[in-house]
Amino acid sequence: MDNTKHLEDFEHKLTGEDLHGEDVVEASERSSWFRRHKKGILTSTSEKRETPDGLWVKCPSCRFTCTVIELKENLYVCPSCNFHHRVGSDEYFDILFDNKEFKRLFDNIKSKDYLNFTDLKPYKKRLEETWSKTDLHDSMSVAVGKVDGFDLVIACMDFEFIGGSLGSVMGEKICRAADYCLEHRIPFLIISKSGGARMMESAFSLMQLPKTLGRLSLLSDAKIPYFSLCTDPTFGGTTASFSMLGDVIMAEPGALIGFAGPRVIKETIKKDLPKGFQRSEFVMDHGFLDFIVDRKDLKTKLGQLLKLFTT
Ligand SMILES: [Zn+2]
Repeated sequence: MDNTKHLEDFEHKLTGEDLHGEDVVEASERSSWFRRHKKGILTSTSEKRETPDGLWVKCPSCRFTCTVIELKENLYVCPSCNFHHRVGSDEYFDILFDNKEFKRLFDNIKSKDYLNFTDLKPYKKRLEETWSKTDLHDSMSVAVGKVDGFDLVIACMDFEFIGGSLGSVMGEKICRAADYCLEHRIPFLIISKSGGARMMESAFSLMQLPKTLGRLSLLSDAKIPYFSLCTDPTFGGTTASFSMLGDVIMAEPGALIGFAGPRVIKETIKKDLPKGFQRSEFVMDHGFLDFIVDRKDLKTKLGQLLKLFTT
């Protein structure tokens, strides 16, 4: 069979027409289209076109897919179901501060492994790995700037840094931030996003609870407002201390807020937990929150609060 004939056959097989009319074509010949002549994948790895990482994001709640840029423009909230994606301190500072202008404070404080603690790996190694993987110095970043024209100091946790755990650096940063607020008479906001105390710092981590609370009470004495925003997740030592003590306590929708996790509670009380247990809506219904605020309304709401409290 010459080449032209081959091509004709090809065309007709594509369109499903039978070129030879009454010719009986055997079943095996018909299905030859689907027969693999060479086995295996023949494209070499270097020729493969890969989709760049992180170009698309799938919502974990409703499976809606959009581009990273779209998600960023929507303040990292799912455009389809309003699921609030977890973001870090950099994103919150950009979202909240006017013209994204702010000054970072106390960035030079770093954690130290004074207990020589080893769990799955030495704490010192864990810290070094986290520093090299992220641009973060610790699980909390502090910055000062203007929100809707009002001065505000924001201390925001990063879940990326050892689960946003409360260690001695976070405690020290909160205290120094509170001192800064006292000195300049500026309101204070803590954005919580933490799994709880940092077990690698053991008792030193727990000491941060009374330490931070003592300092925050000085703000209260000086009549400087302190706001708390609980985001997904707010657990353990943070819930047991400063996250639940603000003059105003707010939360993002659907955020998990609690002390011990649902699994631990279920195993302890041996009962099924109610629907939506420990979600911000549930916590709000039980009187622990003042209100729930969507991320897109957060800046406006803070502006209103600052106006109410400071003028
Ligand atoms: Zn969604």
